[in-house]
Amino acid sequence: MNAPASLPNTSAFEMDRAHVLHPWANFGPFEKAGSLVIARGQGAKLWDEQGREYFDAVGGMWCTNIGLGRREMADAIAEQAERLAFANHFVDMTNDPAARLAAKLAELAPGDLNRVHFTTGGSTAVDTAVRVVSYYHHARGNPDKTDIVARENSYHGSTYLTQSVGKRNGDRIEEFRYKTEGIHHLSCPNPYRRPDHMTEAQFCDDLIAEFEALIAKVGADRIGGFIAEPIQASGGIIVPPQGYLRRMWEVCQRHDILFIADEVVTAFGRIGHWFASEDAFGVQPDMITCAKGLTSGYLPLGALILSDRIWDAMASGGHRWFTTGLTYSGHPVSCACALKNIEILDREGLLANAARVGAYFNTRLQTLADLPLVGNVRGQGLMLCVENVANKATKELLPDEVNESKRISDVCESLGLLVRPIGHLNVMSPPLIITEAEVDFVVDTLET
Ligand code: PLP
Repeated sequence: MNAPASLPNTSAFEMDRAHVLHPWANFGPFEKAGSLVIARGQGAKLWDEQGREYFDAVGGMWCTNIGLGRREMADAIAEQAERLAFANHFVDMTNDPAARLAAKLAELAPGDLNRVHFTTGGSTAVDTAVRVVSYYHHARGNPDKTDIVARENSYHGSTYLTQSVGKRNGDRIEEFRYKTEGIHHLSCPNPYRRPDHMTEAQFCDDLIAEFEALIAKVGADRIGGFIAEPIQASGGIIVPPQGYLRRMWEVCQRHDILFIADEVVTAFGRIGHWFASEDAFGVQPDMITCAKGLTSGYLPLGALILSDRIWDAMASGGHRWFTTGLTYSGHPVSCACALKNIEILDREGLLANAARVGAYFNTRLQTLADLPLVGNVRGQGLMLCVENVANKATKELLPDEVNESKRISDVCESLGLLVRPIGHLNVMSPPLIITEAEVDFVVDTLET
């Protein structure tokens, strides 16, 4: 073991290489190429250790909604850390920031979503939502109504359970096991890759029929919950066909299936609303999971927001304990950070900016659609994506080796722009403070 005194002589890059197992670590080509050591951030800009500047069109990981480097965020965090850095949040203990944040989320969330369970991030919020499904139905006398329906290509987190509920093909590797019992996956509602002979409306009908057929086969007495990202994020910005989400919700209502909107990415302004499900898609979910933009990435925090209806059933089912929770549930500093973040989003009109500049971004990005490598350009608000193909007519993909070794994102990086490569996709989710001039820089650089 090295003595701490030796650390200053070693670069962050070297220490990282020697000691860090990264999320989605790659033991192949990216590992050898090295990785960026980011030293500073201000607004949507980042600087690496060598002082090179980058425009971060990824928004960290879809999360730096208000932008980095804000003094009032640092002050709010510091004040709370000094006053009360930690408090037990189990059973009936609480703290002022957690209680106030719960009330604020209840105010912003649609319908009767008035109850909040705090977690450490998105995965733990989704994990808890899945467990609430069985608790709720058990409390109502349906103990077998525990199956979960999700969609292909979805991402719901990285714990054992949430990675089993999600299903991005690239993430499923043989070294890991996944829970398969009681989890079903419907087709991905991707209009670009729908069967050639179908209109978008027919495609939508087909997707609804597929859900109905699954319920008929498995039984409504077994299926307890349906989970969906309103717009699939890591799966490649899949904006579903018109009416799809609302019709899926109506199917859920008919069969007493709880609708979980995984808004870990879409909430807090990313597509111009506090929550996307109701305002953008006309759906009133039974539960919403959120994280990321909740604190704009200044500190880790997630939340599961549940309806009064679920709460009442859970509370009156004769059970005494809801035995799940985390040491850092309701963390006072994270909650104070979220409250300040929400205040800034509101005060600076950043939801409206996301909608306005997002529309401009989408229009500008469409100009890339004629490029030979581009199969599809899509998005909504500030969730955007360019899909590269080898053949525009057949939509055939470039071989994985090409997507991995000649990454457009690497060229962008050398030109001072960070976009997120996901295989053949370049995904963008910039801070909501982005300006039209910055959009021009992003689109021009991508075109180059
Ligand atoms: N759900 C969605 C839709 C996500 O995009 C993510 C993360 O990207 C998660 C859940 C998991 O969130 P976290 O990484 O905070 O655990």
